[in-house]
Amino acid sequence: QAPTDDGLQQGSLIQPGTRTGETMIAIDNVSKWYGDFQVLTNCTTSVSKGEVVVVCGPSGSGKSTLIKTVNALEPFQKGQITVAGTKVLDKSTNLPKLRSRVGMVFQHFELFPHLTITDNLTIAQRKVLKRSGEDAKKRGLDLLARVGLSAHAHKFPGQLSGGQQQRVAIARALAMNPVVMLFDEPTSALDPEMVGEVLDVMVELAKEGMTMMVVTHEMGFARKVADRVIFMDRGEIVEDAQKEDFFGKPRSERAQTFLSKIL
Ligand code: ADP
Ligand code: MG
Repeated sequence: QAPTDDGLQQGSLIQPGTRTGETMIAIDNVSKWYGDFQVLTNCTTSVSKGEVVVVCGPSGSGKSTLIKTVNALEPFQKGQITVAGTKVLDKSTNLPKLRSRVGMVFQHFELFPHLTITDNLTIAQRKVLKRSGEDAKKRGLDLLARVGLSAHAHKFPGQLSGGQQQRVAIARALAMNPVVMLFDEPTSALDPEMVGEVLDVMVELAKEGMTMMVVTHEMGFARKVADRVIFMDRGEIVEDAQKEDFFGKPRSERAQTFLSKIL
């Protein structure tokens, strides 16, 4: 299929990833402190194009902090992170531009409550990417259809269920043509009956080749689509393994204990 002028394949949620082995996220020996408290210790990992990496671990182990360092929502004192070749903490880096290409979906769907779903989907495209209203709307509504919510375009976020809002949040992130997508427990604030519909969208994305780093305790999702699983404990990456190896038998006792509790 012919790419559109912004390089996107038509008929797909995203530009299909080809697994070139190209490193999209490189986290190199990152340490971070909050005052005297060390929240990340020498974290090193990388995510290559089209790869899906699940990050798990006990509450307070630093998962959210680590994922937020990737788009410099959290600064760090030691080490280096590059996204698609750009150093996130470099003075010369255009952070708004970098962040516009790093899709982020949080636990709490942070849609703008006073804007319609359509406006939520288009505002950053127009303001940050300088797309015309018409182009932004087309892209936004296209993605809204892909997450199965076309009928809700004119509504406000408060009129949608949590699961629907989270699907809009994913569509909104995708509208920016992100090179990677970061998820921080995107289903953990949802009522149980809504978890599946959000995971389905994420599974679809993964199958289409999006590069994803996903903090989640949904091990069903991990088993289905993850390539690798990272296990964190007390600010350290304790385990970084291929999915089969991780679920087969994690090397560390800490990961074994964690898995035995949640599976
Ligand atoms: P997780 O996402 O794995 O639950 P977090 O990254 O949220 O863990 O937090 C890791 C640790 O850092 C926790 O002990 C938490 O209390 C601490 N922490 C998080 N944010 C701050 C902050 N702004 N100031 C001080 N400590 C923080
Ligand atoms: Mg967290």
